[in-house]
Amino acid sequence: MYRYILHKKSIKHKCPRCNQRRLVRYIDIETDIFVSPNVGRCDREINCGYHYPPKLFFQENNQDYVAISNEPLYSLSKKKEHDYHALELLNSTLVNFDKNNFVQFLKSKFDNEMVDKMVSDYKIGTAINNYFGTIFWQIDNTKKIRGGKIINYEVSGKRTKYINWIHATQIKNRVIEKFNLNQCLFGLHLMNRSSKTIAIVESEKTACIMSMLFNKYEWMATGSLMGLNQIKLDPIKHRAIILYPDLGIDTGKGTPFMLWKQKRDALNKLGFDIEISDLLEQKAIDFDKRKGLDIADYFIDHPKEKTKRIKSTQNDAHMKLYMKNKKLKTLIDVFDLTNLNGNDIKFQ
Ligand SMILES: [Zn+2]
Repeated sequence: MYRYILHKKSIKHKCPRCNQRRLVRYIDIETDIFVSPNVGRCDREINCGYHYPPKLFFQENNQDYVAISNEPLYSLSKKKEHDYHALELLNSTLVNFDKNNFVQFLKSKFDNEMVDKMVSDYKIGTAINNYFGTIFWQIDNTKKIRGGKIINYEVSGKRTKYINWIHATQIKNRVIEKFNLNQCLFGLHLMNRSSKTIAIVESEKTACIMSMLFNKYEWMATGSLMGLNQIKLDPIKHRAIILYPDLGIDTGKGTPFMLWKQKRDALNKLGFDIEISDLLEQKAIDFDKRKGLDIADYFIDHPKEKTKRIKSTQNDAHMKLYMKNKKLKTLIDVFDLTNLNGNDIKFQ
């Protein structure tokens, strides 16, 4: 059945064209919420003819449009239920980091204490029954555990093709029967620990690494290129947001930068305050773009070097960046890193 239908109850709203109370709005049967005040059809078909269908609305606002609902009829009056994981389950995965390739890889590149703190902040887990894969738990701003994405990494830090979800393994093992996944931004649970600008990247790994490199922002991840949407961003609507899209060439649908810029423009029309960084786009050479690097790869995809410590001369407590990597200078250039007084940071 169609997901968006003209509201059956005879409530008429003011028509934007003829100003008479003859507009029937479209309603989303999965949520029981009107699509938008102007999305509807005027019943003065001959004299007015106003019709703003949901499909057009979603196109113009650059949102995904799902025409068909797989919800059964009885849900018409009921809100969709989402499932959550128990805290005990999450806690039971905070082990075996010595076998977790992602964590071990980070420890080969960064200060160990810094990695431990990041792992604890983001509640990174280890999937003991899934080849010690890395679990990126999605915890929302009310501490509800929305899901756990399992990604396996090689010792080199490169991800394998294996991606799974905790709930999918539970269903397979008959621990649970079904699970209604309702994803949120990875890292969303950290939104209230500061009032920092929220920086959004595509992959969980990038968010983790950037949080260690650049703590002027709170780093979160959409989990996929298309994962940048209004539902995921709504909890942080009142915050300053900056997007760092991955590098990539245009394969016909636009580069990651172009796609995220379109979404940014559409979301800002809805009242968001989102910036998008094109600095990486400008600095990267074509070769890097073809490799589809993300902002973290760009800084650590190089041979190990002596750890450099960066300090701001004015306020060293706020800027302790460690990195076993020569590209740190580039990092500073790309982000235009300055200390809290707005001065350039100098190498110690
Ligand atoms: Zn009308």
